Amino acid sequence: MKVCVIGGGASGLMASVLLARRGVSVSLFEKNKELGKKILITGKGRCNVTTIKTGEEFLENVIRGKKFLLSAEKNFSSNKTIEFFENLGVKLKVERGGRVFPVSDDAKTIRDAFVSALKKEKVEINLNSEVSEILVKNDKFYGIVVNGKKLDFDACVIATGGLSYQTTGSTGDGLKFAKNVGHSITEVKPALNGIKVKEKLNLEGLSLKNVKVSAVSNGKIVYSSEIGEMLFTKVGISGPLVLTMSSYVNRSHIEKIIIDFKPALSNEQINARIEREIKANGKKQLKTLLRSFLPERLVEEFVLRLKVNGDLKISQLTKETKNALIGLFKSFELTMVEVEPIETSVITSGGVSLDEISPKDMSSKKVSNLFFIGECLDVDALTGGFNLQIAFMTANACANSKLFEEVI
Ligand SMILES: Cc1cc2nc3c(=O)[nH]c(=O)nc-3n(C[C@H](O)[C@H](O)[C@H](O)COP(=O)(O)OP(=O)(O)OC[C@H]3O[C@@H](n4cnc5c(N)ncnc54)[C@H](O)[C@@H]3O)c2cc1C
Repeated sequence: MKVCVIGGGASGLMASVLLARRGVSVSLFEKNKELGKKILITGKGRCNVTTIKTGEEFLENVIRGKKFLLSAEKNFSSNKTIEFFENLGVKLKVERGGRVFPVSDDAKTIRDAFVSALKKEKVEINLNSEVSEILVKNDKFYGIVVNGKKLDFDACVIATGGLSYQTTGSTGDGLKFAKNVGHSITEVKPALNGIKVKEKLNLEGLSLKNVKVSAVSNGKIVYSSEIGEMLFTKVGISGPLVLTMSSYVNRSHIEKIIIDFKPALSNEQINARIEREIKANGKKQLKTLLRSFLPERLVEEFVLRLKVNGDLKISQLTKETKNALIGLFKSFELTMVEVEPIETSVITSGGVSLDEISPKDMSSKKVSNLFFIGECLDVDALTGGFNLQIAFMTANACANSKLFEEVI
């Protein structure tokens, strides 16, 4: 049986190796001049290749496609990925939050391990080979057009990724192929990205630890983060807490983002601390008091928002100003414009509709002998190695399809 895999990214590489190990003749087509270009930039160049989380703990980190991925996760949970790479001679280590990295701290180790495996399994590697069309007749796949040339295959695995970081080759081709052969596409949205806000803040580059962020829609808090880190950017906010929030709110109308700068303290505790300071030294200036709570750049922003003179003695603070101050500490409001664009987002949310794909083997329910794996599907997860693991587990599900069993 001759199978073509379109896309030499994480999912296509894994599928090619696993299919070849089953005895299938595999031709891999990658439009770039090298394989795994996106892998090289993952985990800030270190590649957070998977996680140690499995089962329910893994699925808690999946945003879209939780139920769909149940069986793929069960059959190829992260320990199988770890085993896969260790068998290829890659030494791995576990870091904070169960994140798994190569000991080399170099994403190239992962990409190169795949390349060696492809060669060992005799996968035909076609670089600079852009697939422009999927050929289907009577609802059955029969070939592809590559660099203008028609080629016949028995089955096809589409592993072309999403629409994020397009310079790596992920330009959404798989979504076009899917649409052309009758599949529905769930609207794509940026996920795991910063959030643009309306306010012009002079806080770019300021990073904060131990804060909390929430999102408000129609006057109600619809998302509230854990305590963690965030960052102010040129256009708004980013950092771990915000990336996670973006994946939860990218399909909602959010009017406000609220930052709690002191999540460990209640309003009453902050009030008591202010009163203690006033009692101890009422002559202290407001700015000096704020400096004991906040970084300097935020002190300026607080004074601006309070609309008072920062040199004011704290004994002169009115009740209203004190309440407004507590409000700023606990509920600093920003107006959300949008999640930053898909081109710069770590992951694409949305894609080939899961209703039309078999969760067992990732085969199309519309066209026989056609499969979709990885980020081109309407699946996405949080940071921590979960997205690469989804690429690998969907590749495994596909490689284990009965279709390949029967024909071998
Ligand atoms: C900056 C960044 C950091 C990330 N870090 C992590 C991390 O540390 N851990 C983690 O789990 N996830 C991470 N991710 C997410 C992860 O990289 C992706 O989810 C994963 O690579 C998706 O794999 P894929 O195979 O589905 O698609 P891709 O990796 O996007 O691969 C698709 C491939 O298909 C090729 N292709 C597309 N169209 C065609 C065509 N018509 N013909 C031929 N070839 C084609 C492309 O050139 C590309 O090589 C990160 C993403 C980014 C952008």
